[in-house]
Amino acid sequence: MSKPVTDLIHHPYQPPAGFVAPQPGVYKASTVIFPNVAAMRARDWKNKNGYTYGLHGTPTTFLLEERLAALEGGKQCVLVPSGLAAIANVNLALLHAGDEVLLPDNVYGPSKALAEGELKNWGITFQLYDAMDPADLQRRIGPRTRLVWLEAPGSVSMEFPPLRQLSDVCRQRGVLTALDNTWGAGLAFPGFDYADIVAHALTKYPSGGGDVLMGSVVTRDQALHERVKLAHMRLGFGVGANDAEAILRALPSIEVRYRAHDRSARELAGWLRGRQEIAHLLHPAFEGAPGHGNWREVCGNDGLAAGLFSVVFDEKYTSAQVDAFCDRLRLFKLGYSWGGPMSLVVPYDMPAMRKAGSWSKGILVRFSIGLEAAEDLKADLEQALAAL
Ligand SMILES: *Cc1c(COP(=O)(O)O)cnc(C)c1O
Repeated sequence: MSKPVTDLIHHPYQPPAGFVAPQPGVYKASTVIFPNVAAMRARDWKNKNGYTYGLHGTPTTFLLEERLAALEGGKQCVLVPSGLAAIANVNLALLHAGDEVLLPDNVYGPSKALAEGELKNWGITFQLYDAMDPADLQRRIGPRTRLVWLEAPGSVSMEFPPLRQLSDVCRQRGVLTALDNTWGAGLAFPGFDYADIVAHALTKYPSGGGDVLMGSVVTRDQALHERVKLAHMRLGFGVGANDAEAILRALPSIEVRYRAHDRSARELAGWLRGRQEIAHLLHPAFEGAPGHGNWREVCGNDGLAAGLFSVVFDEKYTSAQVDAFCDRLRLFKLGYSWGGPMSLVVPYDMPAMRKAGSWSKGILVRFSIGLEAAEDLKADLEQALAAL
């Protein structure tokens, strides 16, 4: 007879295999138990039929990987602890000392910081290209270029790039492409029509709660996947089962949420565009916005767009006045990220963030539209504008 404390750990009860419910069970493991030494030696962590260690996958992470691959139209998926980690994982899997990576000038800011602050120390150089100009990308691709990042639309300034032409340039030059598909979320356009690798900050719409950090790297090519997976293992980019569960729980509603964010964002953007305080609306689904034609080409004339847009205030308003506008908002909270139920606002200093092209005068403010009633959000914007 074992002592109770031992029975607590080695109890013979096993959960029944036949249990079925809408949500899958959650498997949490660092340690995975093998039936014998032969199995321990034989099991291959790259093969999803065999579990070896929590870092290499559990039924819970494999399930989420399968569903995300389906969402993106890919075949393999690797989960990482944040969207930025997805970018880092791709870079470190594919780039070596002496290589160069090209980033759009309007790339997600921390991706630029990663290249500047870390990749450089590993002997990997980078260049920024003008995402709106395929000829500029063409000129910058050189013999050391191993990877080109694509992102649509550009971060904060929201220009929708000519994805088809950028992708064609890379294909003709035989350079691998990775797309940051966080904005499109696998819903607005098929990422693999334009890139070899699709990275996604699950922190945004797949989570939908503003409470989980996670990222994914989806591929269609087994050899490419294995390079990503090897770097993932060597870097130790594991994710927690509870976080994976939160994403699994939110995924079934991603499309209805995305459409709801989109609808409210367009309603508010259209209204803001007509206000005399606003000089420019930066929302790719609106006529006259930068890259609108490209958005139509990639997402379709009646296509989808995320619940995200920026406005540029009339240049007569000072930075202090625009800050006060942001502070006056009640429903819109000051905070980074997007894709959650709560609307968010951030004022940006654009000239400090961009190299290519020139930025027009006026302070830029980015809105992430949540799931509150659009008319309440409009009333909030109205009272804050009135105080300008
Ligand atoms: C948020 C975001 C990321 C990074 O995601 P985190 O999970 O916050 O690290 C990367 N790319 C884009 C386009 C994003 O919006």
